Parts: sequence; structure tokens; C-alpha cells
Amino acid sequence: MKIAIIGAGFGGMAAAYDLRKAGHDVVIFESADFVGGLASGFKEPHWDWAVEKFYHHWFQSDASMLGLIAELGLTDKVIFPRPLTVMYHDGKFFPFDSILNALRFPGLGFGLDKIRFGFVGLFLRLTNNWRALEKVTADSWMLKWAGKNVYDKMWRPLLVGKFGPFYKDVNMAWMWARIKARSTRLGTFEGGFQNFANLFAQKLRALGVEIRLGAQVKFIKRDPAKGLVLDAGGVQSFDRVLVTTSPNLMAKMCPDLPDDYLRGLLSLKSMGAVVMVLSLKQKLSNEGYYWFNLPKEAGFPFLALVEHTNFVPAEKYGGDNIIYAGDYLEQGHQYFSLSDEQLLDKFLPAFQKITPAFQRDWVKKIWVNKTNYAQPVPLVNHSQNIPAIQTPIDGLYFASMSQVYPWDRGTNFAVEIGRRAARMMLT
Ligand SMILES: Cc1cc2nc3c(=O)[nH]c(=O)nc-3n(C[C@H](O)[C@H](O)[C@H](O)COP(=O)(O)OP(=O)(O)OC[C@H]3O[C@@H](n4cnc5c(N)ncnc54)[C@H](O)[C@@H]3O)c2cc1C
Repeated sequence: MKIAIIGAGFGGMAAAYDLRKAGHDVVIFESADFVGGLASGFKEPHWDWAVEKFYHHWFQSDASMLGLIAELGLTDKVIFPRPLTVMYHDGKFFPFDSILNALRFPGLGFGLDKIRFGFVGLFLRLTNNWRALEKVTADSWMLKWAGKNVYDKMWRPLLVGKFGPFYKDVNMAWMWARIKARSTRLGTFEGGFQNFANLFAQKLRALGVEIRLGAQVKFIKRDPAKGLVLDAGGVQSFDRVLVTTSPNLMAKMCPDLPDDYLRGLLSLKSMGAVVMVLSLKQKLSNEGYYWFNLPKEAGFPFLALVEHTNFVPAEKYGGDNIIYAGDYLEQGHQYFSLSDEQLLDKFLPAFQKITPAFQRDWVKKIWVNKTNYAQPVPLVNHSQNIPAIQTPIDGLYFASMSQVYPWDRGTNFAVEIGRRAARMMLT
């Protein structure tokens, strides 16, 4: 068969790998001039490693991704350093990278709240019944079972940070999936995720997959005589097509999809993200913290603060200290329209709050990355609203972050759904 894949993110590349190995002619169309999609990175001339545009790491439980890396013979390039994750409480940061440290966290006191926190965590790790949990919101479930204090201190900040105005609508299965599927150890690839994406693309090309970069697909439709035709600066026909973009872009590309499928695509909610990467002359955290959990109520102008060079040494970046500061935001939020300098002005006081000695002239360079599609928002009974991978148009398939539910999006699940879609395309 002649197969087209739209998107050279990890979902599209994983599907291409299996389809090519099954003996088919595979072409990947990618609108950007690089592979890796949302997990791609960039590199300054004096850096040995690339930095992801949006902070990325793997969990030890990411079986689909680590399994694929093993098949590609690249396991020796995966590293799991031991970075320090901390949680903010009353102006200070406390270690939060193990169950023991979570239990020691003073934000919950040492009485009944801590016991409820422990039991809720244990229950969520042990249960597999996410279908019961998706019937209620995380807000109501946590208030009932973890109690107001634990919810306000631990879980509400996470929901508010990730889902902003939609935080009360997110279902409890989302929270379950995060606790169930994540390990405390965090990993990355030597040279950064972009290096892995490049090596993967190199292997795909060696197998005979054609990867067309800078090739934006404008429409896909079924032609009675030619099969599935797509336009990427020239019309071509294929036997099967897999699209791995956001639901919105899929709807735009394939307006011939039946109304109910299109409506399903367009009704899915998601959050965007704005993430600033800074290279600094000095370390931000003298204590060597990597991941700072920051509650919105504490007044920080971002949700995530990540000192990447407390995970991967600064020597890989020519001695530059790399920081991420970012947030998940609803479309239309003012951060999307601010200039890079205006955003930096908003963020600078927060760096001083973390490290009083911080000065603006520590900043060597900034890069601001924005995406409208960063985090699907799963509402109550979300399993009933997920678009089918096999669309109603014969031969046309769709696999995106919005369909990996009940799991939370991530490169691991992009690989899983890409390979699942490939299996469906072969039957
Ligand atoms: C802020 C943030 C933090 C994250 N942190 C992590 C993390 O720590 N760990 C982790 O594993 N995951 C993380 N993720 C999620 C991870 O990046 C995604 O789940 C994964 O990369 C999705 O892969 P994909 O192949 O499904 O889609 P994408 O990577 O989005 O690939 C889709 C591709 O399609 C291309 N495309 C779009 N339209 C067209 C068109 N018309 N024609 C041709 N090509 C087109 C795009 O350019 C893109 O390359 C994070 C994401 C964000 C935003």
C-alpha cells in the first residue's frame, strides 16, 4: 500500500516505523522544517546538546517509548539522572521527589490530613477502575475523599495550573492516570529529545521511509477514482492516510468528514502553553533544584519553573544555565500576544523571589515558544467523546494527544497511539 502520514512528531514517526517494516511505501509530510513535533528542541552553536522548546522528560514507567528506543538499539543513550523536585510552601521549597518526602512535606501538617493524603494516593495507585472515576470531577472527588485542606494544598494547585478556568470540570480519571502511570525517576536522551528525533528519522530514512519537511498538507479528501488525495503543494493519492495533528487542524484539513465526526473533533477542549527558555550566566537555584511546583495563589506569573541544567549539566550547553518558565493557558490569554521582552518583564520579579541575588543582566538570551494545543482537557465521561482512530472516511485515520485518554498526553502515549493506529491500518 501507499501510505501518507501527516506529522513527524513521535506519533507519526512510530506509525511510519511499523508500517514500513510491514512492507508498505510510507511518506511522512511535516509542515515544519524539523522532526520531533511538540517535543522538538533547538541548539545554540556553542551547545553540545539541544534543549526542548517545551520542557520534556520521560518516566521509568514510559514502557511504549522505552520499548521503541530498545527496538531502535538506542537504550544506551537514555539517562535517568536524579534531579530534585520541590514544592512551595509559605515562602520556602521542600523536597517532593519521593513518597517519603511527600509524607514529610510540612504543608499538610502531620495529623489526619497526611493520612488522608497517603490513603488517597495509595488507592489511586492500586485501583484500575478509571471508568468509575471519569464519572465525577477531580474537584468533587478530591474534596470528598482527600478533604478540603489536602485538596487546597496539593491537588487544586495542580488542576488550576494545568487547566485554568476549566479546572473544576476535569474528570477524576485524569488525576488517576497521572498518579498511576508516573514514576518519580525522570529521564532524557543524550543530546536532548531532538537528538533522539533526528536519530529516529535517520533510521526511518534508512528503512526507506520518505520524510518531506516543510510540506504542509492543506486538504485530504476521498476521490472516487483516485482514492485518498492530499494537497501538500501538489496533489497526490494514497491508499491510507494517518493524520497526527490537533483535532482542530484535522477538521480544517478534512472538511468532507461527516458532521458528527467533525462536531466531535471541534468540541474537544484543550489548553495552550507559553514557555520561555532562558540561558543565564549564573545558576538560579543555589540548592540545585530542578522542578519547582508553584501554586498560582502564591502569586508566581507562571506555573512551571524548571532549572534544566540541574537535570543535565550546564557543561552540555557551553556553561549556560538553562531555565524554563511557562504556563498552560486558555486560547486568547494575553501571554500569547505579549512580545518576548514584555513577557520577560512579567517574569523577572519571580526569579528574584526565588533567588534574591538574581539580576536582569544574568539573562544572556531568551526564546519564547507558544502552542495552542498543549494539553487536552478531559471532561466528565470523556471516554464517550473521543474521536475514533478510524474515521468515517474509508482509509483515513486520526491519532492525536486527545485520544490517548485515560492516559495524560506525553511522547510515550504518542508512540503507543501511533503504533495502535498502524496496526489498525494494516487490518
Ligand atoms: C509544555 C509541554 C510539556 C510537555 N512535557 C512532556 C514531558 O515532559 N514528557 C513527554 O513525554 N511529553 C511531554 N509533552 C507532550 C508531548 O510533547 C506530546 O504528547 C507529543 O510530542 C505529541 O506527539 P504527536 O506526534 O502526537 O504530536 P506532535 O508532536 O504535535 O506532532 C504533530 C506534527 O504535525 C505537524 N503538522 C501539523 N499540521 C500539519 C500539516 N497541515 N501538514 C503537515 N504537518 C503538520 C506538526 O508540525 C507536528 O510536527 C509536553 C507538551 C507540552 C506542550
